[in-house]
Amino acid sequence: MTVPGLDPITATDDEIRAFLAEAEVPPLLPALAYVTGDLSLLRDDLRPDPTLLALPQGGMSDAQQITARALALDALVRFRDAGGRAAPPPARSDLLRIMEHVVGGSGMDDYLPLLDEELALRGDDPRAPKWHIADVAPDTTLRVVVIGAGMSGLLTAHRLDQAGIDYVVVEKNPEVGGTWYENHYPGCRVDNPNHNYSYSFAQRHDWPLHFSTQDVLLGYFRDCAREFGVRDRIRFDTEVVSATWSDADARWEVLVRGPDGAEDTLLAEAVVSAVGQLNRPKFPDIPGRDSFAGTAFHSAQWDHDAPIDGARVAVIGTGASSVQFTPEIAPRAGHLAVFQRTPPWMGPTADYHDPVPAGQRWLYAHVPTYSEWNRFWMFWRMGDGSLPGVRVDPEWDGSKGSVSAVNEFMREMLASYLETQFAARPDLLPRVIPTYPPGAKRLLRDNGVWAGALTRDNVTLVTEAIREITPTGIVTVDGVEHPADVIVYGTGFQASQFLTPMCVRGRNGVDLHEQWAGDARAYLGIAVPGFPNFFCLYGPNTNIVINGSIIYFSECGARYILGCLELLAREHRTAIEVRKDVHDEFNERVDAENRMMAWGWSDVSSWYKNEFGRVAQNWPFTLLEYWERTRRPEPADFELT
Ligand SMILES: Cc1cc2nc3c(=O)[nH]c(=O)nc-3n(C[C@H](O)[C@H](O)[C@H](O)COP(=O)(O)OP(=O)(O)OC[C@H]3O[C@@H](n4cnc5c(N)ncnc54)[C@H](O)[C@@H]3O)c2cc1C
Repeated sequence: MTVPGLDPITATDDEIRAFLAEAEVPPLLPALAYVTGDLSLLRDDLRPDPTLLALPQGGMSDAQQITARALALDALVRFRDAGGRAAPPPARSDLLRIMEHVVGGSGMDDYLPLLDEELALRGDDPRAPKWHIADVAPDTTLRVVVIGAGMSGLLTAHRLDQAGIDYVVVEKNPEVGGTWYENHYPGCRVDNPNHNYSYSFAQRHDWPLHFSTQDVLLGYFRDCAREFGVRDRIRFDTEVVSATWSDADARWEVLVRGPDGAEDTLLAEAVVSAVGQLNRPKFPDIPGRDSFAGTAFHSAQWDHDAPIDGARVAVIGTGASSVQFTPEIAPRAGHLAVFQRTPPWMGPTADYHDPVPAGQRWLYAHVPTYSEWNRFWMFWRMGDGSLPGVRVDPEWDGSKGSVSAVNEFMREMLASYLETQFAARPDLLPRVIPTYPPGAKRLLRDNGVWAGALTRDNVTLVTEAIREITPTGIVTVDGVEHPADVIVYGTGFQASQFLTPMCVRGRNGVDLHEQWAGDARAYLGIAVPGFPNFFCLYGPNTNIVINGSIIYFSECGARYILGCLELLAREHRTAIEVRKDVHDEFNERVDAENRMMAWGWSDVSSWYKNEFGRVAQNWPFTLLEYWERTRRPEPADFELT
């Protein structure tokens, strides 16, 4: 599945020139500088402008691209003719130059150790545990229950396996994959380019699409489960009902319910909750919802037998899932009414549905490190490189439409994209251009299909609020009845209800949900005071808005959890529990910073805020900071018993 070795270059000059015409340019010269040792390729006039990173090709002009491709051709031909032998790895100072060139940055020394891990050249796995339980504490009983076999659970299982720790994964579904198993609505795909949305240690150079569809992602996670050798350790069709800490025995009692309804208790010294933030569908609280006589379902529980063809279909919601499935079902429906609360900002992404072109695929398969540098390029431009664009400038007065000069620049670009898209229907413009700042809600991707759907003759965009649902349709507050045969809820997930509906009881029988009281918090999204040996992945405040990949967070988190288990084992302790003051201080910092981000500052409704208006989902700092803070647990942050 993964490709550590590359094919030798046998292509002719003309063939290489043709392949380069389809290259993603910003990582091209840096990869060649790395592999040939020729740093003269890193010409200052060919560095991307850091303020234009979000644009196609990082905003590089046509002239810059032509020059870069020509230089790359020359370098590749020389590389081929010299037998394709890579230069020795560069000195750190040269590596820094290469990295800064890719992203047009400077002063990025801090990122070098992170870069080593993210590049993971030659199929390395630098984040793997470097210890084994048999060496550290051969006589210790350390069993772990992992809840969930999605991306995070599989990763945890793999890490536990590498450290020789006894574990079982409990998964309520009959298959691995979590999000990518459950969401099979038409058009479902990832919004991160796949070279970035994949494990750092199981990269694929041969993704068929830039943004894989659900079936491809499910296939990837299935393959990973098999290659990691963890599949046999998963109890499928089994749901964790509760987990209860026993102070007396210093272990967790995990109550599970199997496929036949039979219950069983698993005993484990530690528990990792990998249940996801977006696993429990959310239905809106609309009067009369249950009275609807037609077919109704949630996007995450897609009914492929629903009579959509020629029918009157109502879609509630215009969030991330809806903008993917609405264009798919619009041509099939007789009439489609799209009910929108707030319009989404759309990031123009021309290649959103496109296969990776042959030239790009050839480069991945033949040019050493090109795929990895391309991954880092994506990591940066969709992560820390874009964070300043959504941070609030307290001096800025953009009323409610933007939070800073950079954010205003983004707003103008995105608004002009929507104006172009809806040029044929100017009447829709006031309703499809958001009035909230970019970054206050998730920025969605578009290649033109959204406007294509909303401007169809058989589609109506309804922006009046919904008053009620009747047996025959939807009534809006203006009293208009919208008859429907099918209602599709594109209304997202119960993202604020972390870890529900499980019951988790920690020290002294304290219920986690009572402690949280609807306002979930954890230290680094992972550890909660009063809940020893209990860890979360994709927990509170580990989500990201301006893209970036959740896989990155889970990889960081899994390493930290393994670090906590190592501490337990090495020190021959029975319990590790985060200190309350450490946890509280951390959360105060997170809250303060989230208030300074577009998503915390804006009053637009979004799933990023819980019922108290607090942002319990998002990480407001850099990706680098999460990596630094989770590299290893700081023993002083914990009580070890
Ligand atoms: C439609 C959609 C698109 C997305 N697109 C992106 C994207 O482009 N980029 C990105 O980074 N992220 C995206 N995400 C977020 C996505 O959820 C994460 O990237 C990732 O899949 C999370 O993996 P996970 O394993 O943490 O959680 P999940 O994938 O949600 O897996 C959780 C698993 O836990 C199981 N489980 C839950 N409760 C229990 C229980 N009590 N007992 C037993 N098993 C249980 C579930 O069945 C599930 O298999 C998207 C999410 C959705 C819904």
